[in-house]
Formats: sequence, C-alpha cells, structure tokens
Amino acid sequence: MPEVAEVLPRGAVVGPFSGPRAVWGEHLERAAERYGTAVNWELYDDRGEAETARQIAEAVVAEGRHALVVGHFNSAGAAAALPVYRAAGLPVLLPLATTPGLLADSAGTLLRWCPDDRAQAVDLLAAVRDAGHTRVAVTHDGSAYGERLAQLVRDASRLARPAVPSGAVVSDGSGPATGAVPVPAALAEPSLDVVDAPSGRDVTALVVCGTHVGAARVGREWRAAGFTGAFWFTDDCAVDEFAELLGAPSGAASVARMRGGPEAHVDAAFAAATAALAEDPGRTGRTLLAAVRAHADRGFTASGEPEAGSVGWDFVPVPVPAAAEAPNRARAGGRHGRAYDVIVVGAGVVGSATASALARHGARVALVAPMDGRQDHATAWSGGLVRSFEADPYLRGLALRSHRLAWGPAALAPGPYGFMTTGSLVLCGDADLEQAEKGVAELNGAGVPAELLDPGVLGARFPGLSVDGVTAAVWEPEAGYADPPRTARVYRDRALAHGARLLPARVRELDAPPGADRVRVLLEPGGPVEARAVVLAAGGGTGEIAGHRLSGADAGRTKSIRYGFFHHPAAAGLPTVVDMVSGVWGRPQLYGEAAGGYMAGRPVDEWDVPPGGLATLTDEHVAYIRTGAAARWPWLADPATRFLGGRQGVDLYTPHSRPHLGREHPDSRIVLATGWSGAGFKTAPAAGELAAAEALDVLGDG
Ligand SMILES: Cc1cc2nc3c(=O)[nH]c(=O)nc-3n(C[C@H](O)[C@H](O)[C@H](O)COP(=O)(O)OP(=O)(O)OC[C@H]3O[C@@H](n4cnc5c(N)ncnc54)[C@H](O)[C@@H]3O)c2cc1C
Repeated sequence: MPEVAEVLPRGAVVGPFSGPRAVWGEHLERAAERYGTAVNWELYDDRGEAETARQIAEAVVAEGRHALVVGHFNSAGAAAALPVYRAAGLPVLLPLATTPGLLADSAGTLLRWCPDDRAQAVDLLAAVRDAGHTRVAVTHDGSAYGERLAQLVRDASRLARPAVPSGAVVSDGSGPATGAVPVPAALAEPSLDVVDAPSGRDVTALVVCGTHVGAARVGREWRAAGFTGAFWFTDDCAVDEFAELLGAPSGAASVARMRGGPEAHVDAAFAAATAALAEDPGRTGRTLLAAVRAHADRGFTASGEPEAGSVGWDFVPVPVPAAAEAPNRARAGGRHGRAYDVIVVGAGVVGSATASALARHGARVALVAPMDGRQDHATAWSGGLVRSFEADPYLRGLALRSHRLAWGPAALAPGPYGFMTTGSLVLCGDADLEQAEKGVAELNGAGVPAELLDPGVLGARFPGLSVDGVTAAVWEPEAGYADPPRTARVYRDRALAHGARLLPARVRELDAPPGADRVRVLLEPGGPVEARAVVLAAGGGTGEIAGHRLSGADAGRTKSIRYGFFHHPAAAGLPTVVDMVSGVWGRPQLYGEAAGGYMAGRPVDEWDVPPGGLATLTDEHVAYIRTGAAARWPWLADPATRFLGGRQGVDLYTPHSRPHLGREHPDSRIVLATGWSGAGFKTAPAAGELAAAEALDVLGDG
C-alpha cells in the first residue's frame, strides 16, 4: 500500500469488525480496501455496541480529520452517534442501517443507501402470503433489536384499510394473540391468518426477527420443539454463516435480503464517496454531500432517504449448509465472535509504532485506547529529545536502532516526525566515562557521528553552559528533538493505512488462561474482545489493568516530569543537553509554542501520581527548575530571564530504569512494552519493532 496517509482525504468507516456482529463489518472492510486508492479509509470498530459507537463519533468529530463517515451498521449505534456528527456538520453515509426514522432531524447531513425496516415488515408479510401461507406467527430473539422489528411486523398489519373483511390477524408469537388487527389489503387478499404461535401447532409459517445469531437459536429451538412449517427470517440473517448457525432446516427457510445484496449498497456508497472526493479532495460538509448525490447510482429524497422504488427487499431461500462448514465457522468465530490477531493496548508513541509494524506485516490489528480527547499519556507532554547515545548499553541499542528506523532519515529532510537538528550533548561525570567511550565507538561504528568533548572545548564552544563537575561530554551533531504527538499520529496513521482498526475503549482486564489460544480483553465500555496476542503499551496506566504480570505495584511507579521554556540571550546557540551529573536536561525550542526559548527540566521527586498532564506550571514549579538548573545554565538565575510557558506529564518508572519489553513469560500471549522511565520517546521506533516481532512470534506459535 502506498504511503498515502499524508495526502489523501480521510473517511471514517464505522462498523462491527470484531465480536459476534463482525460478519456484517466484513462488507465495510472489503469496500474500504476496494476504494482505498483515492481516499484513506480509517476503520473504527464499534463492535455493534451503541455506547462504543457514540464514543467513536465523539473521537472522530474531536479529531476533525475526516471528510465524511461511512457506517454505522448497527441501528442503535447509529442512533447514538448521528446527533454527534450532525452537530459537527459531518456528512454520514448509511449503507446498512435499516431503522426507520434515523434520518429525522438529520438536517440534510445523511444519505441512507438501503431500504428501511418498515418496508421490510410490509414486504415480508406480503411475501409470506404470496408463498401460499394462511397462518403465520411473529417472534423475536429477545434482543431489543429483534423486539422492535417484530413490533414493526405487527404494525405493518395495521397500516392499511381499517376494515379488511378477511379478519386476518398478526400476533406476537411469544405470547397469546391479543388485539387482533386487520392486515393491509396487500396482505389480506387472499387472507393471511396469523395466530398465537406457542399454541398454534397448525401455523404454517413463523417470522423470526432478530440478530443472525439469536434468530438462528430461535429457529433451532422451534425445530427441536417439532415445528415443521416454513421459517421467515429478517435481514440480519442474510449472511453466509447464518445457514451454518441454523443447521439443516426441516422445512423451507427464507431470509429477507436487501435487493441486490447488502454488499451492493455498501459498494455504491463507497463508490460515490470516493468519486466525489477524488474529483475534489478538499470538499467537506454539504458541498461534499451534494457531490456524493451527484455521483450516486440512485436518487435520494430531500431528507436523504433512497427514492421510492430505487431500493427494496427480496426474500431468498436460506442455503443448506455444507456439513463440514459449521464446526469450522464456529471455531473461527469463537464464543465471542471474530477475534483479532493482535490487540495493542495504548495509542501513545510506543503502541502506535507497534501497531504500525504489525499492520505492515499483515496482522489483523486493533489499537485500543480511550480516545476521549483527554491527554492522559506521556507522549502528549514529552519533550521529544532524541539522540543515539544512552549510557545503558541495552537502551543504547534501542536508541541506535531507532536512529536507523526514524530519526536518522528524518534528519536529512523535513521528515514526518517534526525532527529538528540541534546537536546533542550528554554531560558525563567520572563514573560515566567508560560507557561514554564505548558508546561513542558504537555510534561511530553504526555510522552515527559522535565524539567525546572535554570540558575546555565545551566551555569555549557553548558559553551559555557551565561545565562544573563535567568530565567529558558525548557530542552528537545530528541529534536533536522531534514532535512526540505528531510522531505517534504518523505511526497511527500508518497502522490505519495498513488496515489496523481503532477501538476507543479502556481496558480493564486481560484474561489469558494458560494454554488458551486467545486472550480475552475486557473493555470499558463494551464487552470482551479477543485476540491471539496482546501488546501492553499502556504507559502509566499499565498497573491499573488486571490479569497480567505487571498488574498493580509490579508495573513500577508513576512519576511527574516537568520542564519550562525560558528566554535569555545567553541561551542562543545552545544545543540539546542531558546532564548525567545533576539530572537536568534542556534543548532549544526552534518552532511552535515558546519558539526562540530554551527548554529546561529538572527531576522532581513526586511518585505514584495518576497519569495525566498539563500545559502549565505553577510559580513554585518554575522557581524549582530555575534554582536547580541554574547550576548548568547560569543565565536562568538572571531575573531578566523570561519564563515563556511549561508542561508537565507522567511516565512509568521501573526500579532498574530498564523497560519491560518482551513476552511477560515465555509461554505467554501477552507482550509487554512499557516502563520507559521518562526516556521512551527516542527509543519508541525500535521498541515498536521489537514488540511487534514478539507478537508475531506468539502468532507463529499457534
Ligand atoms: C513531561 C515528559 C517529558 C519527556 N521527555 C522525553 C524526552 O525528551 N525524550 C524521551 O525519549 N522521552 C521523554 N519522555 C518519556 C516519553 O515521552 C515516554 O516514555 C513515552 O512517550 C511513553 O510512550 P508510551 O506509548 O509507552 O506511553 P504513553 O504515551 O503514556 O501512552 C499510553 C497509552 O496507553 C493508554 N492507556 C492507558 N491505560 C489504558 C487502559 N486501561 N486501557 C487502554 N488504554 C490505556 C493511554 O490512553 C495512552 O494511549 C518524557 C515524558 C514526559 C511525561
């Protein structure tokens, strides 16, 4: 797939891509792939859950990056999400949502491509009658959706002439027939007699309303109870696996199906949207919707419903399943429906880099994190200092690999990560000298320019820096800093461009019984979602997730990190500095907020704080930084030095300052990528690569 993320217009595709409803999401997935050349379609998994759907709508609107939305599939989800899109003026194409009335109050921002359930109910009863049945009952699968649909079928009988001489009635098969009502003329000629199903052994047809899994269950129950008449299932059952779930019917079984098949409606919506955006990628809102109408293969009413006659319902036989298929399908779907290959928990820079690497390898990936706009992750507040030298050989390996993967190439051009070359100094004391010498040799061996500078050279070259207590410094002329939120976004976009799904939710628990071939990931909101492997990149949130080795205090401890931006002429020309002697760090701020200032940070001793961050510091914080960091940058003590602004965030620290990176134990399906101890940005590209390799290894194990 081309690197399209930066240039193409974006469309959000929302549907159930995992869980029991995922078979419907496959229509959207296939179309997104087919029409992915002119539009960058990004897939959001609502799992068919209304609350998740609403959260997705809020995340999509908050991001403000999408020209339009295709989906939602699930009508309850659509009802929850549509007001959010409407308020933002974001166009929505509904290819599969059939609930009547969804477009009321849509203010012309929606187009529905499929027929609705009211028409389905009327057409279904007519088809039952046309098939020669004279007695029919209506039942449902117990879901709110099925119940609503059954009510529509009952209502359909009340639509037409008040007095139909046939006396035909429609009743709810789940209870005694009360309030018999006349049926429309179309249904009453010849008469259609609908009786109370439980007692009506002589019923020749049963209408079953509901989801495909639930309706199949009801069908099996009726058959087991001796029903030999014809089944009529509503449209959710028009999917391949329904026949397998139902098993061989003892009588005829028919299913309602959008005329032309659901895939045709999905395809038509994607085709028109793609054509409209290909013609003018800058189109948005009503202008875009007008262009979609112009490119559509059908007409729409002013409110956005398909024009009468352009869509409709067919009733087709449920195929007899091949005997061997049912168990296979059941295994593929599992108890909770379709699973992911890998779920990556956390969408900071590490999780996003991991998801990108996995998706590029063709794994079916979901990136799960709360996407409610709260910036409660370290990446949002990170200072972004980047270099290849680290005193710890293990971290140095990761930093060097990251240089090769990301920072080195980015330094050669205005790269995607907002990388700025400033040069970097790591100031070393006597105790650090040995690793400094080794490190410089390693960097040079890997083609990264680096040298050891003695204090005399340092003092002469950087007059704004005090060299007290410094034995030597590792100088990397090509190092600098990058933009952490932007970097995470770039990785996330790459993951999405390669087919990863976003699942906005908080993970409460991982359930990975020994020997099981899947991990159950318990979400809030929503039910469980399953994957063959999980990468835990939840930063400061790691300990709050139950069911893995780092639950609770074993994760390490969270700690605050703060820095300010200061302006003083003596800071001009200073490079990025990390001081291993005193612990302070700093860098020039070359663009954006506080441009022209110099960042200075000083470690604080505030532990076990909740994840989060702020774009402000108190006077006390500022004074603390100035006082401590003035030993290295004496101009900070000058009252003329202006404070330009500051940030604070939280990261997860491990006792040994080394991350948890790798499987939590050799047989586990959980891969850890957390505990970066205030230094995980520069190594994130390599961390993501390694975590992805471990997860692929888990998949390779079966
Ligand atoms: C102020 C500050 C300055 C820093 N400066 C530097 C620097 O200059 N150079 C450097 O290399 N490093 C720096 N760091 C460290 C670096 O930014 C972090 O180590 C790195 O960003 C961690 O990335 P991450 O993806 O592991 O975690 P995070 O960015 O914290 O992301 C964690 C993700 O997990 C999600 N999550 C949490 N709990 C749950 C849950 N229950 N369910 C689902 N999702 C969950 C969060 O929403 C988030 O998406 C700094 C850190 C801070 C705070």
